[in-house]
Amino acid sequence: KLNEKVDIDGNDEIGQLSRAYNFMSTKLSHIEKQRQDFVANVSHELKTPLSSMKLLAESLIMQPSTDTAIYHEFLEDIDSEIDRLNEIIESLLNMVDLDEEKLNLNYKLTYVNYLIEKIVNNIRPLAEKKNIKIIITQWEKIQIYLDQGKIYQALINIIHNAVKYTDEGGKITINIEREGRFAVIKVTDTGYGIPQESLPYIFDRFYRVDSARSRKTGGSGLGLSISNQIVGLHQGTIEVESQIKKGSTFIIKLPMDINQL
Ligand code: ADP
Repeated sequence: KLNEKVDIDGNDEIGQLSRAYNFMSTKLSHIEKQRQDFVANVSHELKTPLSSMKLLAESLIMQPSTDTAIYHEFLEDIDSEIDRLNEIIESLLNMVDLDEEKLNLNYKLTYVNYLIEKIVNNIRPLAEKKNIKIIITQWEKIQIYLDQGKIYQALINIIHNAVKYTDEGGKITINIEREGRFAVIKVTDTGYGIPQESLPYIFDRFYRVDSARSRKTGGSGLGLSISNQIVGLHQGTIEVESQIKKGSTFIIKLPMDINQL
């Protein structure tokens, strides 16, 4: 049994050994608990869109004479549930990749500002659908060593969130500047904001402030944990400042001397 404890005390070698054993056993059962939670969470996340699809398909089967408009609407709902499933599976695969690739980042000397310009260009059509403006306010040309694909993903998750969690007509501002030995990227939105009590958890796997809203916008609750892991692998940090109903700022700091690590 993983959480079995040895009950021997004392300052001799046996006592020390048993304390070390108890310590390891607690650690192991903690890891085991995390693994179980993870499997439970993944199953839940995968089951939710599946259940909706099942319901939608069943109601179509039960009413064979439904008019085409309703057919169409139900199929569109099924289609977006399939997209959601796909997004979750992709995030899961990314996560596994990251766990395995720990020491295998493909560093290339990169202009952070051009990378961000590329992301913004890719996400702009989505923002325009909600009439949200994305503006790059401050623009310092900064060149650093990073894994382009990974940092692209880390940043697009954050900028995509800014679009997802901001109402129609809002604004996203991006700021790129140097601060000591760091390249600092700030992404500010005029969105819903994050409650103070949720801030410590938003980087946790599967954590969502408002799961109903997040589900509607297609979130899996994995995006920020992936971003955080990628930035961490680059020896950087992500901080958040947020005010409910005012908006949030995500501050990503990447060390510029990473090639020396
Ligand atoms: P999701 O896939 O649900 O977006 P993330 O891991 O990317 O998951 O984010 C976790 C949660 O943090 C989101 O569900 C959302 O509640 C909150 N969040 C993230 N970014 C923002 C933001 N810019 N504004 C408000 N809430 C946010």
